[in-house]
Amino acid sequence: MYHLPVLKNRRTLLERAEKFISDIYFTDCNLRGRLYGDSCPLESLACFLTPKRITFSEASKQIFDPCKVGDTFGPTWWTCWFKATLKIPESWRGKEVHLLWESDGEAMVWRDEQPVQGLTKEGEKTSYILSECLQDEEPHSLTLYVEMACNGLFGAGQGSQIAAPDPNRKFSVQRAELVVFNRDVRELLTDFEMLVDIVKELGEEEQRGYQALFTVNEMVNLCDPSDPSSFAKVHSLAGTFFNQRNGESQHTVHAMGHCHIDSAWLWPYEETIRKCGRSWVTVIRLMEKNPEFVFTCSQAQQFQWVKSWYPGLFSSIQHYVKKGQFIPVGGTWVEMDGNLPSGESMVRQFLEGQRFFNKEFGRYCKEFWLPDTFGYSAQLPQIMQGCGISNFLTQKLSWNLINTFPHNTFFWEGLDGSTVLTHFPPGNSYEMKGKVEDLVKTLKNNKDKGRANHSAALFGFGDGGGGPTQLMLDRLRLVQDTNGLPKVQMSTPDELFTRLQADSALLCTWAGELFLELHNGTYTTQAQIKRGNRQCETLLHDIEIASSLALYRNNTFPYPAEKLQELWRLLLLNQFHDVIPGSCIEMVVEDALKYYEGEFLHGGAALLRDACEALVAKGSSVAVFNSLPWERLEVVQIQEGAEKILVRASSIGVSPVKDTPPVTPVSVTVQVSILPFDLVNCNGLLKTAINRDGTLASLYLISGNRESISDGCLGNQFVMFDDVPLYWDAWDVMDYHLQTRKPVAEVVQPVHVVSSGGLRGSVSFTLRISDKSTITQEIIMDAMCPYIKFSTEVQWAESHKFLKVEFPVRVRSPNATYEIQFGHLQRPTHRNTSWDWARFEVWGHKWADLSEHNFGVSLLNDCKYGYSVHKNTMTLSLLRAPKAPDATADMGIHHFTYAIMPHTRSFQEASVIQCAYNLNFPLRLIQCSPDTMPWSAFSVTSQAVILETIKQAEDRGGVLVVRLYESHGSSVTATLRTTLPVREAWVCDLLEKQDPNRPVQVTSEGITLDFKPFQIVSLLLIM
Ligand SMILES: [Zn+2]
Repeated sequence: MYHLPVLKNRRTLLERAEKFISDIYFTDCNLRGRLYGDSCPLESLACFLTPKRITFSEASKQIFDPCKVGDTFGPTWWTCWFKATLKIPESWRGKEVHLLWESDGEAMVWRDEQPVQGLTKEGEKTSYILSECLQDEEPHSLTLYVEMACNGLFGAGQGSQIAAPDPNRKFSVQRAELVVFNRDVRELLTDFEMLVDIVKELGEEEQRGYQALFTVNEMVNLCDPSDPSSFAKVHSLAGTFFNQRNGESQHTVHAMGHCHIDSAWLWPYEETIRKCGRSWVTVIRLMEKNPEFVFTCSQAQQFQWVKSWYPGLFSSIQHYVKKGQFIPVGGTWVEMDGNLPSGESMVRQFLEGQRFFNKEFGRYCKEFWLPDTFGYSAQLPQIMQGCGISNFLTQKLSWNLINTFPHNTFFWEGLDGSTVLTHFPPGNSYEMKGKVEDLVKTLKNNKDKGRANHSAALFGFGDGGGGPTQLMLDRLRLVQDTNGLPKVQMSTPDELFTRLQADSALLCTWAGELFLELHNGTYTTQAQIKRGNRQCETLLHDIEIASSLALYRNNTFPYPAEKLQELWRLLLLNQFHDVIPGSCIEMVVEDALKYYEGEFLHGGAALLRDACEALVAKGSSVAVFNSLPWERLEVVQIQEGAEKILVRASSIGVSPVKDTPPVTPVSVTVQVSILPFDLVNCNGLLKTAINRDGTLASLYLISGNRESISDGCLGNQFVMFDDVPLYWDAWDVMDYHLQTRKPVAEVVQPVHVVSSGGLRGSVSFTLRISDKSTITQEIIMDAMCPYIKFSTEVQWAESHKFLKVEFPVRVRSPNATYEIQFGHLQRPTHRNTSWDWARFEVWGHKWADLSEHNFGVSLLNDCKYGYSVHKNTMTLSLLRAPKAPDATADMGIHHFTYAIMPHTRSFQEASVIQCAYNLNFPLRLIQCSPDTMPWSAFSVTSQAVILETIKQAEDRGGVLVVRLYESHGSSVTATLRTTLPVREAWVCDLLEKQDPNRPVQVTSEGITLDFKPFQIVSLLLIM
């Protein structure tokens, strides 16, 4: 069959075939040089530049000035609209004709007022197909518009991809012409390329690789690039190879088109809208030609954007969703961060996402899809299951710096024992190219060989969008069942997970969080975004509760459902996995902060005020609204400069402000100089000794007769570290930063008294971090309060430094506890194994605790997420100073509060969880009439159960949803008491779907419920 002799030289034969398809070498005589036939310039090209992202109809009305290929346009983030008139030569009849467009800005072709094709050089999309086979009746003259964004696929980083954008970059059009495209050459090139890759990927040990080598060599022998009549024989030789089949046992790769589009990252939100348009219109073009093509697409927010910006495209998407090719996946509003959003925020990601998908496409997603997020909370399995989702796909743990995650297909068991079938595509990518390398990697890397015989391969350019190409589809089609390679089929996630589930008997289980051993700096970077997130979560919690109560206190009160949905969606958007982690450019930070401020200053604050005012009759007195389900006794200040008052506030309700005398007032004693510390504060519960630099020499728990600060150590010690990661600046803090610890020691203003006791004793001091940065702090001790607050202002102008605060405590325990979504978990305080020391910097929410039997210390905060507890030192991460991708990240003034709380017994019995809520959810002041009586709407009989959420049910007036969770990690029975007129109660899922089999009895005592550890229970209360 083959030409003789074939010399035994693998290298020359392989390189000969490579050169035959090279786009660099020998293009004068090789096959690659024949890809394009004749070309012809455009009739005319004109342009119009605008700083704004405008609609087609607005753009097409502008005046266009002549321009030419090679011209440059800018600056960065502007848009250049081109008007191209073209005339296809008569002589091209019967040929495939393309508009070839190469620009370094991403572009969209518009034809007849509709977007028709995305063009992105970096995404290998430079052709708009004008005709597949030019006929006489087709228009030969036409006008097209090309909308070119002055940014690349990855924005406009100056020098490196993640560097801050160059604001003055120019973008050029390097090619714009008509060409004849030789489809037969393209097909043959794909044959050659796949065979060459098989030779390379299978290596010298597999005889199948040699079969590919001799096949491709013979193809070069037979192929005359200048004579297309030689192609058929060459193509059929390749076909013989590709059609040699596998046996039955071969692994199956489920190929799914994908296009990961970061909702904002190295470009702003507004550009993402256009990225979706460009990427998805290209997908639709591919679907028209490839009926087997399946494309998976996440993030309801992006669909919502496309729906409002590109309604025609959205209709096409709906059509292909119905056909089962365009598959909405994930079920969430955006692909959010998996660590920092609160439990309720995570529920809302699914609630908003699933409801959107169901409304627009008539289906709920069955899989959670989060390929690119920086770690996954242990509470996610329960939340997924509660939202109708039992499958999960990601691949990010392949980025672990230290340990290799041991599974690709496994059951993931969450905090409460819920499990979800989980798949990490073994190719470790969500942007494969359909190449042999991708398939071989998928097969070889699979860590569940023999347990799972199916894997996913996601193909298509991603991160900045782009998506699949025709070439990727052609590659995959060639090797559907080729001996030596895994079988390949186009699949939906549902098909993949069904196969995995059917054959899951041997799968392993991973319990607890999926911790990413990288990107630990994202718990701290961009502190303002984190603070905005926490404050908005708190505000929305309070608005929903106040509005729900107002419905029953005031029958004219309209529940602000629409406005709340808008606010939630903005908050959820900012939880995207490059926004809340702080790994985005400055423009995105500005947008995110604008949303938070908009919510607070205009939207949210007004909604809360309206709802609170509806709870009481108007008047000249003052009441407090407590949104938490327990009674509180707290010091409040009615207005700036006024006297402080100790207020007793009833659980979820309103209480008039009446001064309650404290059992023990706070005393502040200034020491004479014989002692090493300057001040002693005491409130009957705690006693502190504070040094002149603000460090704590002592923190004494009076009831327990225990000192909290470790012998010879200081609490509230600020420390600075050098913080230079290996590459991912905003993302990563490396373990070696711990070796650069330096205490902040320079006192600018020593400790002095601010409030001299009574209801509050507080002192203040100022430290210098450097000649550019300072810390000013007020240490606050309130009457009856079991923790000390540290209200902090930092003027921060550092570069690649990390600021933390330490509390070395007198506690010995191998584990510390951290609050997460709807619960808590333990992580080690030692570094026994590589899995332990990889967690040198971890995340937590409102509190962390280090306890031994009968004594412990908790560290609470109002907007921080980064912690570390090593041995007996508890550390809270405060501020970082990375320079990429935002060169100004975290520069400026910061405000935050943390608190320290020693306790006897366990943290559960000591109400640490409640105290952390109290610190985060201030009592809200309301003007009311003097005869206002205290009133409570809800309370719960067990301290273990927290009533987290009260809201109006979606689309159901007169029905409230309440969500409770077990917070201690215990099995418990609790009764929810309410003074609202509840007629019926039903258990519902997190999407608020009533469970017809689970009515709940409402008695005069309330509603009694059984909880398992960390269980979330949602109820519909029908009034
Ligand atoms: Zn991403």
